[in-house]
Amino acid sequence: MRGKRTNRTYALSRTLVFMALAVWLGGCSIAQQWDGNGLSGPGIADAAPATETSVPNETATPDVVKPEQPAVKPPDKEIPAPFPIVPNPEKYKNKKLVALTFDDGPDGKYTQQILEILEEYNVKATFFVVGLQVEKYPEIAKKIVEEGHSIGNHSWSHRDLSKLSSKALDNELNKTQQVILNATGVTSLLMRAPYGAISNALLNSVHQENMKHVFWTVDTRDWAGSSVAEMHKNVLAHTHKGGIILMHSFGGRKHAIDHTVKLLPIIIKDLRERGYEFATVEQLIESGQAHSSVVK
Ligand SMILES: [Zn+2]
Repeated sequence: MRGKRTNRTYALSRTLVFMALAVWLGGCSIAQQWDGNGLSGPGIADAAPATETSVPNETATPDVVKPEQPAVKPPDKEIPAPFPIVPNPEKYKNKKLVALTFDDGPDGKYTQQILEILEEYNVKATFFVVGLQVEKYPEIAKKIVEEGHSIGNHSWSHRDLSKLSSKALDNELNKTQQVILNATGVTSLLMRAPYGAISNALLNSVHQENMKHVFWTVDTRDWAGSSVAEMHKNVLAHTHKGGIILMHSFGGRKHAIDHTVKLLPIIIKDLRERGYEFATVEQLIESGQAHSSVVK
């Protein structure tokens, strides 16, 4: 009898240890991908591939009695549908628009510096934010919206969404919509997949939420540590009417975003000199100048 009970107790503790390990590993794989030092940005070759094991819910063993649930946090606000954009090309007649976009923030350093430059030059831009970062820096996310910029969903944990199950995918989208709403009071209409890695399932999920997926037309490759001169040349050579310029407000290689901060006033002045006006991605869509291959 005693031996049997001991065996059962042993089996139970083995299962519990296994569960704890599975949950811990799940947490780690997210942490490794988004550890706040943020190697990120489209095209990073060594980004760890996303795995299903990093969703702790899916590792639970069904036949084990669950421990008591921790205290329930206050309910989230219900996410209202984003306002659809009504095209109004007339409003932007004779204007040559371009949109500046900043991915991967908010953070405690660069996003604020970028906001100050945008305010100084009276430019409105679009920030594609990572849910985990909004959770860490809700005040900066709020500031983005309060200062008249547009805010977009850039996933919860910056994983390659094209490799996720539809359940994990919805989780990445919805959790981020929720944290943006909680921090800023707005429902984001725009979404940009990390690394630009989309799939049909992703586009379906985005469209189901009445959102639009946004690529870019000019990649500054700021995350790779490109020099200011290199990026300046690239932007001037590749910007056209209705263009969307990709930059970052967090992450990338060491000091990479210092170059972005230096580049920003230079391209604002130069593009203005060439007759461009700065718009948010939403305004670009409203104007009809956004390319249909870029905004889906
Ligand atoms: Zn990104």
